[in-house]
Amino acid sequence: MSVAEDIVDGRSCGTCSLCCILPEIDVFDKPANSVCRHCQPGRGCLAYDERPATCRDFFCHWMTDADMNEAWEPARCHMMVYTQGPQITVLVDPAHPHIWKTEPYASQLQQWAAESAPSGGYLIVYVGDEVTVVGAKAG
Ligand code: SF4
Ligand code: SF4
Repeated sequence: MSVAEDIVDGRSCGTCSLCCILPEIDVFDKPANSVCRHCQPGRGCLAYDERPATCRDFFCHWMTDADMNEAWEPARCHMMVYTQGPQITVLVDPAHPHIWKTEPYASQLQQWAAESAPSGGYLIVYVGDEVTVVGAKAG
C-alpha cells in the first residue's frame, strides 16, 4: 500500500480519474470499468473529504515510483499500474485496448514481469474482460 508521503515530488493526479473508474471497488459495490458514483471525470472526487480509506490510501505506481518515466503517466498512457502482493496489476482503459502492446509499454511490461519472476512475482494485464499474463509461455 502506498501512502501520501511516498508521492514523487512534482507529481499529482491532475485530471486523471482512472483509479475511480477501472478497478472493482468492493466498498461501493462498484464493478470494474464503471465510473464511481462520486467521481466526476476530469474534476475528481466529489466526496473527497469523506472518501473511504480504500481511496485515501491508494496511489498508483506512477505517483509513487520515480523510476516510472513520464510515458507512464496514467492520463497519457491510459493505464494504471499497482502491486498486490506478488502481482503487478496493469489495468488498461478499454477505450485504448491495444496501447499496452505498443512501445515503450510492451517492452517495459516484459521487463517488469521478468524482474519479478525470480521472487515469485508475475504481471497481469486487464483490458475489460480480457486477461493476459505477461511473460507466460503460450500453451
Ligand atoms: S490512477 Fe494514479 S494518477 Fe490516476 S487518479 Fe489514480 S492515483 Fe492518481
Ligand atoms: S469515492 Fe472518490 S476517490 Fe473513491 S473511487 Fe469514488 S470518486 Fe474515486
